[in-house]
Amino acid sequence: MRNYSTQMEAARKGIITPELEIVAKKERMTTEELLPLVASGKVAICANKNHKCIDPEGVGSMLRTKINVNLGVSRDCKDYDVEMQKVMEAVNMGAHAIMDLSSHGNTIPFRRKLTSECPAMIGTVPVYDSVIHYQRDLDTLTAKDFIDVVRLHAQDGVDFVTLHCGITRKTIDQIRNHKRKMNIVSRGGSLVFAWMCMTGEENPFYEYYDEILDICREYDVTISLGDACRPGCLADATDVCQIEELVRLGELTKRAWEKDVQVMVEGPGHVPLDQVEANMKVQQSICQGAPFYVLGPIVTDVAPGYDHITSAIGGAVAAMSGAAFLCYVTPAEHLALPNLEDVKQGIMASKIAAHAADIAKGVRGAREIDDKMADARRKLDWEAQWECAMDPETAKRIWNERKPEHEDTCSMCGKFCAVRSMNKALAGEHIDIL
Ligand code: SF4
Repeated sequence: MRNYSTQMEAARKGIITPELEIVAKKERMTTEELLPLVASGKVAICANKNHKCIDPEGVGSMLRTKINVNLGVSRDCKDYDVEMQKVMEAVNMGAHAIMDLSSHGNTIPFRRKLTSECPAMIGTVPVYDSVIHYQRDLDTLTAKDFIDVVRLHAQDGVDFVTLHCGITRKTIDQIRNHKRKMNIVSRGGSLVFAWMCMTGEENPFYEYYDEILDICREYDVTISLGDACRPGCLADATDVCQIEELVRLGELTKRAWEKDVQVMVEGPGHVPLDQVEANMKVQQSICQGAPFYVLGPIVTDVAPGYDHITSAIGGAVAAMSGAAFLCYVTPAEHLALPNLEDVKQGIMASKIAAHAADIAKGVRGAREIDDKMADARRKLDWEAQWECAMDPETAKRIWNERKPEHEDTCSMCGKFCAVRSMNKALAGEHIDIL
């Protein structure tokens, strides 16, 4: 019988939970090292007590950078079986979290299937689901309706919920006066903004924050404080709207921690590369080291079709500078619902960004696989290289498709292979090139 509500409460009481023990092992830390990080909110272990099949992970800037994959059906692509196939493929490829962003049909069975079959952390955005759940237009929903959906998701075993608590009625004037190029591009943020405009009421997720905290505390749901004003283009980056909301998110982080509720803070968005590090530092300072969950950042606006690359560039710098969690971006970003191939490309790009950042910031053990790969390459041991590769299938396919005349090299240089020449020269052997 557990005598704590949340992982944070347990850590503050000095209790080593089974989840904390697993996370410590994965991160090559001792439980004594991890415990104070969870107690202080610098690491969140997102594990709803009703998500029984979860394989727990910790999210924090000193741990391995985690990756989230957004999935879920839309009105135009509504096959739940296809979506479940993408989920399992994403988990096999290394996704640590799946956010169910479904915006069509009966969302309950899919969400419950996720929390009963998927071992990755599950996140949702209750404000999207409110319209679907009640099948009513936005302006007919009440604050209580929104809170009831948060409760439903908590009961269903969702590990983290994105809540756009940081915008208020003041934001309405700010967005109007500031004349951003892209206004609000967060889907949930735009719904909350529109609801406030239509009803004349305060943001329910802000006004009833204490009630939401009680729900999150009961089920151990981590709040992912959504950044409604994340910049949607480079011109809007690091502007008053974004920073003003961030300050409020800092206050809300503190209020959550006072009730032992775990928090992550969501971040930008589209940001020029030279502003990425500063954004991470400001967030860490304002939100007192709460794990930062970045959506990109996308570092140029002009590469639709390649935004897995624009975001991997931003994501690597962000994670190296303190972000803990990268939301993947696929080549279909800004264009369409991603298909299975887009999902794969998005995951690979995020994995590369996360791994590069982990090496740069000295995460324990992160470099080992690179050193193994270097040894395998020096020995021209192709089997060992596939074992080290992030995507062995693709690497093997390319090598096989364009096989060299001499199998100890590759068709790039053949007998001019520098590695082969050096190995032979250092061993005192004759080097045959012609
Ligand atoms: S042939 Fe060229 S590219 Fe291929 S392994 Fe040797 S040095 Fe590297």
